[in-house]
Amino acid sequence: MSGKKNISVAIDGPAGAGKSTIAKLVARAFGLEYADTGAMYRGVALVARRAGVAADDEAALSRIASEAVFSFEAVERGGSLVNRVFINGEEVTDAIREPEISSTASTVSALSGVRAALVAKQKQMGAAGGVAMEGRDIGSVVLPDAEVKIFLTASPEARARRRHLELLAAGKSADYDTVLKEISERDQRDATRADSPLKQADDAALVDTDNLSIEQVVSHICDIVTEKTGRRPLTA
Ligand code: C5P
Repeated sequence: MSGKKNISVAIDGPAGAGKSTIAKLVARAFGLEYADTGAMYRGVALVARRAGVAADDEAALSRIASEAVFSFEAVERGGSLVNRVFINGEEVTDAIREPEISSTASTVSALSGVRAALVAKQKQMGAAGGVAMEGRDIGSVVLPDAEVKIFLTASPEARARRRHLELLAAGKSADYDTVLKEISERDQRDATRADSPLKQADDAALVDTDNLSIEQVVSHICDIVTEKTGRRPLTA
């Protein structure tokens, strides 16, 4: 063992910028674990809703966040990479993607007690390196020493268009204007909260995905990783 810890890649950005798809592919390219921190905020929202806990009850929500045991499992399904999410042993992969959970997650993530509990778990997940972690505050708060920091963005319209198509593809009824409105509201909440608002870390590379395909974005980020760390992707 050389003792040199494996690299960490922090990927932040607003809802619908493509962080999950891109982070999973970058993780696979460099043989890193993939960590989805949004799934943890969503998990707290799901447990709270089921337990009838109000979205502003900071003490109860913080306890849920600190007691929850999260685990993840990456599986290949129908040609794409799926990140299975478990809370306290129960699979919640689909349940945490429901629109009302998106909105509750955004509300509970503004509470400092919830953030403190989840950030502590996320720092632990990233402590040994070897991880591609995505969220809103990874480069700024969770992994400030990450070797590579990416801020992934796209216009609200492009993000709403993608989310709308995803919902239709999943067989859900969805209206583009409603999706755009929800994305704009979530952006506003995430960017204006007092604790760890969404913003690009000073040392993060900005990648605007508006006019790029997934392959182009992944290839661009792989080039940034290679440039910063000297590592080359294991897969194209
Ligand atoms: O990324 P995703 O949409 O799954 O995140 C759900 C919610 O969790 C976001 O709206 C955001 O408010 C919050 N979040 C956060 N910090 C993170 C990841 C997600 O505040 N690191």
